[in-house]
Amino acid sequence: MAPSADLVDPDAGFLAALEATLGPGAVSPPEQRYLEEPRGLYAGEAAALLRPRDTAAVAAAVRLCSEARVGIVPYGGGTGLVGGQLRTGRPRPVILSLERMKAVRRVDAADAAMTVEAGVILVEAQAAAERAGLLFPLSLASEGSARIGGVLATNAGGITVLRYGNARELCLGIEAVLADGSVFNGLSALRKDNTGYDLKGLLVGSEGTLGVITAASLRLFPRPAETATAWLAVPSIAAALELLGRLREALGDAVSAYELMHGTGLAFVAETMPEVAQPLAERPLWSVLIEAGTGAGFGLAGRLEAGLEAAWGDGLIDDALVAQNAAQRAAFWRVRESMSEANRRIGAISSHDISVPPSRVAAFVEQGRAALEAVDPGLRINCFGHLGDGNLHYNVFPPAGRNRAEYMALLPRIRAGVYDNCVGLGGSISAEHGIGRMRRDDLARYLDPAKLAAIRAIKTALDPRGILNPGALLPD
Ligand SMILES: Cc1cc2nc3c(=O)[nH]c(=O)nc-3n(C[C@H](O)[C@H](O)[C@H](O)COP(=O)(O)OP(=O)(O)OC[C@H]3O[C@@H](n4cnc5c(N)ncnc54)[C@H](O)[C@@H]3O)c2cc1C
Repeated sequence: MAPSADLVDPDAGFLAALEATLGPGAVSPPEQRYLEEPRGLYAGEAAALLRPRDTAAVAAAVRLCSEARVGIVPYGGGTGLVGGQLRTGRPRPVILSLERMKAVRRVDAADAAMTVEAGVILVEAQAAAERAGLLFPLSLASEGSARIGGVLATNAGGITVLRYGNARELCLGIEAVLADGSVFNGLSALRKDNTGYDLKGLLVGSEGTLGVITAASLRLFPRPAETATAWLAVPSIAAALELLGRLREALGDAVSAYELMHGTGLAFVAETMPEVAQPLAERPLWSVLIEAGTGAGFGLAGRLEAGLEAAWGDGLIDDALVAQNAAQRAAFWRVRESMSEANRRIGAISSHDISVPPSRVAAFVEQGRAALEAVDPGLRINCFGHLGDGNLHYNVFPPAGRNRAEYMALLPRIRAGVYDNCVGLGGSISAEHGIGRMRRDDLARYLDPAKLAAIRAIKTALDPRGILNPGALLPD
């Protein structure tokens, strides 16, 4: 039996004790928005919302919950896409929101690092780096709401992984409250630290199940002096990959984003968000949005245009638009960033976030189409994502004019079709969104058994009472 089976619903006396410890206003009934998530698939339950102001208060709250066996759901910006930030069902947990811990504690140009608290919103972290003339490169469409604690807890990826790595690779150190209320003071800015197991690396991506992240030390980079952005129509995924290889050769590691989009996604944006202008008059089957950045004097724009011209000559691209100014660049990105909202408005039966080796993306798409046609030939697929990382957001929709509710009975076969195909090609069933509650059963089915056993053992060792995010990642 999982340790979280012994959890209890907090009573009024316990909540009063929490308030006495955390101070007035730090414990309140949860507003509805804390019980919802972006896809509208889960409805959360919680006995209270805790909003502590500092690490000591987080530690005190966790200690009290541990003693009373009350579950805790750590909460950032609520943008997670796998239902990790809310608990459905009983016993009810408390939600522990880090939103009041918003200090930028330090930005250090010499160490190329900054220390920020978990409640800092991602765009605020980017802005703090920019004020110091540096770059914090992590970038996601949800960056206006997602908080540092959340992006680390989910090991978020986004559009710049190709060049700068995901959240784990951008994190040098962590401060976190563990399940017994002890504080792990791991806020170093060291690039090298081989003192035993990598606890920081383990907490990053643990989705609130091993500790509450309260602050982090993050890597910073020089800001590119020259940037270039282009929108391309490409004849195939294979051509897009070959082009990426050539451009990386020609531009060094300057390519920071390489986003692939299927024509179905562009059609969804056109249908549901006609106010979003699309770069090309004709809607190609595959499009790529590329961005690169370099130091001054590189002549990036000229080199990129030369590379694209050569690629056009060799049949690797059908059409290209290079952004001539910041407004055009923003317009290109707006199309890409509208994709999730357009999908939501159309209403997916099933959403997936898979990765395969980049060389196998084309095979994944081809085989995936065949597998889903066998389920129902009318299903529509919108896939888009970070081609350079082999990461596709692969979403399956009902035929045009039909409602997803009519097709939900097909969900198990659709999931099996997508994940069997992905795992058969050496891929992962969760590239960047995590497991949460949505992919818990799929994890048990597809993960390497030795890894799953290690995950269970680590959870039991670090959270023996099962209070931290019960039901996320592993079943209750
Ligand atoms: C429009 C849109 C686009 C997105 N694009 C991307 C993308 O390109 N790449 C990508 O990787 N993701 C993407 N995401 C999902 C992504 O996981 C989240 O945006 C983000 O990483 C979660 O941060 P959050 O602060 O909102 O966390 P929440 O949603 O609040 O929480 C997510 C998980 O982290 C845990 N958690 C939160 N804070 C803490 C903490 N301080 N300590 C411990 N655990 C904590 C929660 O318990 C939960 O399990 C997107 C989401 C949306 C809505």
